[in-house]
Amino acid sequence: MDYYSSQITKLIEELSRLPGIGAKSAQRLAFHIINMPQDQVDRLAASLVDAKANIKYCNECYTLTDEEKCPICKSEKRDHSTIMVVETTRDLAAYEKTGKYEGVYHVLHGAISPMLGIGPADIKLKELMQRLQKDVEEVIIATNSSLEGETTAMYISKLIKPTGIKVSRIASGVPVGGDLEYIDEVTLLRALQGRIEL
Ligand code: ZN
Repeated sequence: MDYYSSQITKLIEELSRLPGIGAKSAQRLAFHIINMPQDQVDRLAASLVDAKANIKYCNECYTLTDEEKCPICKSEKRDHSTIMVVETTRDLAAYEKTGKYEGVYHVLHGAISPMLGIGPADIKLKELMQRLQKDVEEVIIATNSSLEGETTAMYISKLIKPTGIKVSRIASGVPVGGDLEYIDEVTLLRALQGRIEL
């Protein structure tokens, strides 16, 4: 395998660690990067390092942001009494793209998965429960419709029920196992509007 220089091999190896990047794509990207102008490579490298160094969790909804509070949590135009619970910041972005949701979010950063050994303490669930002590009228659970997403939805609804806060689940128009970010906006909107109270 050492028909490339070890530097190129190393670059290919690092790139192929990224999700969705197979050996072929990694090679293609590596050669593309090597042929890029120096300043473009510098900008790419700097943006990777800066993003990692400066991006943190919003201290309210736990989405990724570079400020204490993300723009959505800071906005007075949003309805802070409705919280949509999603698994990832990418899911949040998918709902934001519809432009029709006016509430705020809570990002769990994962889902409960007994198979993978991910329990309730491994996602931002305690943080969600703390937020519910403020004025919250509805929690919309928008975790994926995978086994893990459903398990998480059930767990959360059981936790919230005793508080008397309305809990709903997005409609099952979302394909099973489908990552929310790959679903078109119309389907997402329909899932949101057709949500069912738990
Ligand atoms: Zn936020």
